[in-house]
Amino acid sequence: MKPPVITRVEVNEFTFDLKNVGADGTINIPVYQPGATLTTSRMALRIHTDAGITGEYVGGSKTEYSAIPMFINATLGRSALAREAIYNDAKQALRQHARMGMSQVDMALWDIAGKLFDMPIYQLLGEYRTEMPCYASTYVGDHEKDGLSSPEAYADFAEECYDIGYRAYKIHPWQDAALEMQIAVVEAVGKRMAGKMDLMLDPFCAYKTFGDAIKVGRACDEWGYYWYEDPFKDGGVSAFAHRKLREMLKTPLLQLEHHRGLEAHVDFIVADGTDFVRIDQDYDGGITGVMKIAHAAEGFGLDVEPHGPGPSRRHCMAAMRNSNYYEMGLVHPRISTFHPPIYGDGYEDELHAIDENGFVRVPEKPGLGVPVDWDFIEKNTVDHVVYE
Ligand SMILES: [Mg+2]
Repeated sequence: MKPPVITRVEVNEFTFDLKNVGADGTINIPVYQPGATLTTSRMALRIHTDAGITGEYVGGSKTEYSAIPMFINATLGRSALAREAIYNDAKQALRQHARMGMSQVDMALWDIAGKLFDMPIYQLLGEYRTEMPCYASTYVGDHEKDGLSSPEAYADFAEECYDIGYRAYKIHPWQDAALEMQIAVVEAVGKRMAGKMDLMLDPFCAYKTFGDAIKVGRACDEWGYYWYEDPFKDGGVSAFAHRKLREMLKTPLLQLEHHRGLEAHVDFIVADGTDFVRIDQDYDGGITGVMKIAHAAEGFGLDVEPHGPGPSRRHCMAAMRNSNYYEMGLVHPRISTFHPPIYGDGYEDELHAIDENGFVRVPEKPGLGVPVDWDFIEKNTVDHVVYE
């Protein structure tokens, strides 16, 4: 078969306003602030082919796309089905640049394959299931009276999520709270919901020391938390430190959000640094890279857990056995949206996007399987680059 050939690549940066959201003062991440508006930048990629099929991917940060000019010209004129070759060449070309940008290209190429063969990506990969259980993944803690500003507020919101249908709940705690408060939120949510929901804790490296990570981890142990993720300021990357933590705590660790790609993931597993294996389609080489990690982890008997929501996450999860939860987020009791309104077919990844059992379904249309609203993207575009 004569494959479609890549002729042109377009990148759009567009903006989207988050309402009642401001920037957290410590590490500049979105946080609840009534009345505030946070304008955020989002990215969209199109790969055109001589067969008239266009691969589309929306996602990834502007930083990820910064390395695209270093390799994208080498993909022009190549087969759009040569994902494995492009993955390997891009990986080498970007070897000193954290392999940024190759993931988004890979996902648009998978979209092309699905459209060409008239099949959703999860069926091309090999169907395992069509629906996945979700966890409600909170915004970072705030200091507003009606927000996530106290341990009890997190427990109240966990209960609200339970009533919506969630059977798992992940706390992203405050970046700046005292250690006593960090322990208190683990206890308050545990006391209220342990046994009813799987509970997770993800300070994304906020705790100052290894010692602090042990203290909070012991509270997780007491309440039987399902996983404890990136606890302290090593950045989540020290295999040695996390092996030590695993020796000292009962709660399973979830690491590897901050290591990129197959080889680094396998090294960390072999070094006994984690229990659950984090995967991210935008950091780890797209669908091609994530499926490699999923199968490597399967060989070690371990589960992989996708970071963040999105159609690519649903397709991969639907094509693997060894994964437990889809991350729905970020969610907050007073904020209704976290994502721009760019998808059709009623597709969304917000608090109420689950069914009554707490599940989401994999998209069934060809490729990534969800129509993209290019009118919205083009109307809000602030930068547009074409490679041809
Ligand atoms: Mg995380």
